[in-house]
Amino acid sequence: MPLRRHYDYVIGEPFNHVEFLPGMRVSVPFGRRKEQVGMALAVSDRTALRPGQLKSLGNVIDYEPLFSQRHFELLCWAADYYHYPVGEALFSALPALLRQGKGLSGQDGEALTASTESVIENRGFDLNPQQIQAIDAITANTDAHGAHLLQGVTGSGKTEVYIEVVRRVIAQDRQALILVPEIGLTTQFIDRLRQRLPVDIRVQHSALSETERLRNWLAAKNGTAPVIIGTRSAVWTPLKSPGIYVVDEEHDTSYKQDSGFRYSARDIAVVRGKFDSVPVVLGSATPSLETLKNVKTRKFSQQNLPARASGAASPEIRIINLRNETLSGAVSKTLLDEISATLDRNNQVLLFLNRRGYAPVILCHSCGWYAECSRCSAKMTFHKDKRCLMCHHCDSRRALPAECPDCNQDELIEVGHGTQRLDRTLAEHFPGANILRIDRDSTRRKGSMEKMIREITTGDADILIGTQMLAKGHHFPRLTLVGIIDADAGLLSTDFRASERMAQLIVQVSGRAGREDRPGAVYIQTHFPVHPLLQTLVTRGYAGFAGLLLSDRRNTHLPPYAYLALLGAEATSRETAEKFLREARAHLNDNNALNIFGPVAAPIEKRRGRYRSQLLIQSGNRNALRKVLAPWCRSLESMPGAKRTRWFLDIDPQDML
Ligand code: ADP
Ligand code: ZN
Ligand code: ZN
Repeated sequence: MPLRRHYDYVIGEPFNHVEFLPGMRVSVPFGRRKEQVGMALAVSDRTALRPGQLKSLGNVIDYEPLFSQRHFELLCWAADYYHYPVGEALFSALPALLRQGKGLSGQDGEALTASTESVIENRGFDLNPQQIQAIDAITANTDAHGAHLLQGVTGSGKTEVYIEVVRRVIAQDRQALILVPEIGLTTQFIDRLRQRLPVDIRVQHSALSETERLRNWLAAKNGTAPVIIGTRSAVWTPLKSPGIYVVDEEHDTSYKQDSGFRYSARDIAVVRGKFDSVPVVLGSATPSLETLKNVKTRKFSQQNLPARASGAASPEIRIINLRNETLSGAVSKTLLDEISATLDRNNQVLLFLNRRGYAPVILCHSCGWYAECSRCSAKMTFHKDKRCLMCHHCDSRRALPAECPDCNQDELIEVGHGTQRLDRTLAEHFPGANILRIDRDSTRRKGSMEKMIREITTGDADILIGTQMLAKGHHFPRLTLVGIIDADAGLLSTDFRASERMAQLIVQVSGRAGREDRPGAVYIQTHFPVHPLLQTLVTRGYAGFAGLLLSDRRNTHLPPYAYLALLGAEATSRETAEKFLREARAHLNDNNALNIFGPVAAPIEKRRGRYRSQLLIQSGNRNALRKVLAPWCRSLESMPGAKRTRWFLDIDPQDML
C-alpha cells in the first residue's frame, strides 16, 4: 500500500508454531479485502492497538523468507533513504507473479536448455598492463567492499576487464550482477559475454514473459545462475552468494527511475556492495560528476584505460562555427564537404541529432500562431511521414491543419530540424548513398533495431542518422566521420545538468568514429564556437571539461556539492498544486541547514492536462536533509491538499523538467 507505515496482525491458530522471519509473504484481511498479499516485517509481542482491533493473519504463503537478511535490510534502507512506502519498496523487488501471491513450490529457476554447452572463445590477445592493473585492483580483496571507477574511452577495453573480473568471481563460486542501461542497445555486449564465459548467463529485461522473469529471479536467488545481466530494476535481484556488482555506462540517466520508487540503480549497486562486502565496478568513458567527486574524496578508487586497446588513434575533434556559414537544411558546407570526401573513400558517416520527427515547430507565416499540444505546455513536432503533429511529451497526435486555425492563411512553415528532415537534406545531396535513420520512430517494431545494427556492421549503409540511441555501445568498423549537428541545445538549456549531458553525448558519439584501422574525425556544429565549456571539451577532453564543471558546481552549491530533494505536485489547476506545496512548505521544519525554493511552476508546466509545480529543498548535509524529510513526508500524507494533488518526493532528482 502506498502508505508510510506498517500494520499489525495476530498470529493465531494454526500458525502458532511457524517461525516468522522478515521477508516471508502472508495473506491478510485488509480494509474490505479478505485476502491481500503482504510481507512480514517483524514479529513483536507489543502493539499499539487494543485486542479487539487486531485482525488475524489469513494465511502463510512462504515458509522461508524471499530475501536474505542483508537484502531485506537493503530494501528497508532504500525505502528509508528515498522516503518511499516500505511495502511498495519491498514489492518492487519481486517479479509480478510473486507480487500477486503465487507460491514458490514447483518453481525452481532451472530449466534453461542449451547455451551453456556453447564453445567458449579465447580472447586472442594479451591484456595490456592497464587492464591487468585494473583487474588486480578490483579483485585484490573480494571479501571487502570497494567502489572502483573504471574510466576509459569506448574501445579502451573495459568490457575485457569486466569479463576477467567476473571470471575470477565465478571461479570462487560466487555471482556477478551486471547492470546495463538498455538491453536493446546491448546485444553485442551480451553476445560477447556469452561467447567468453562458460556459464549460465541470465538476461533479465522487460520483454520477457512473467514466467521467464520469475525463473531468472529464482535462478539468481538459488545461486544456479552465476551471472545476471539486467537493466535498472535488476539491481534488486536477490543473489545467493554475491561476488561483484558491475554498472556499465554508470553516467547513464536511465539508472534513475523517474516515477514511483525513484531510486538510482547505480547508487543502490554501490550501497549493496557495502552491505555485501564485495567490490563494485562503475564503468564509463564519461563518468558522472557525482562519481568523479567520490573519486576526488577517495571514496572510490579510479582505474584508467587511457588508450584504445586495439591501437586505433582517438578521433580528432573540430568545431564548425555556424555563424554566417552557408547551410543546407541543418548541415554546413564544411560538413557536407567532409561527408562527400568520406563517402568517396567508401567509409561510413554518422550524423547525430537528438531530435526525432521532421520539424520541432510549425508556425503561421502571417500571424505567428504555432501548433501547441492541448494537454502539455509544449510545441508539437511535425512528422512528415505520417503527415501529423505529435506531442513528444504525451504522444497525442493530430492532423496537420491545411491552414492556420487563427487567421486562415495557408502558409504554415516548418521551423527547425529533426532526424526526418536531416534525412531528406542528405538524400538530396547524396542521392546514391544508402541512408539509415535510427530513432524511436524507425525502430518501433520489435527486432528492427537489431536488423539495422546488422545492416550497419555488415551491410552497405553509408550515412547513419541517429539520436542518442546510436550513441553508445556499438562497434561500426567502417565508420570514420561523426557530425554533431546541434551542440547548442546543451549550452543554452536552463537545466544545470544539460551541459554535462551534452558533453557525455558528444564524447560517446565521437567514440563511434575510427575504431579500426581507419582514423576518425568528429565535427561539432555550433553558434558558440568559443564557449568555454565546448572549448575545454575539445582541447582538454572530458576530464578537463568535468574538472571545470565540478568547480562550477562547487561555487554555485549544486550537486554533487549539495544535496537536493524535490517535492513535485500535479493537479488539474495551477492553484491546487501550488496551494499544496505552500502548505507543505509551511510544515517543513526549517532549521537553517536547508535552502527552500518555491513553489514554482515546473519548466514544462503542463503535461497530460495536469499542472505541475515544485518545491526544491537543498542542503549541504545529506543527513540533516534526511532527518528533516522523514517526518515531513509522513505529515504530507494527511494534509488536506494531499487528496487533490498527485505528489511525489524525489531524492537526488535528475530530471527536474
Ligand atoms: P570498451 O568496453 O571499453 O568499449 P572493449 O573491451 O569492447 O572496450 O574493447 C574494444 C576492442 O578492443 C574489442 O574489439 C576488444 O576485443 C579489443 N581489445 C580489448 N583489449 C585488448 C587488448 N589488450 N589488446 C588488443 N585488443 C583488445
Ligand atoms: Zn495565422
Ligand atoms: Zn502533449
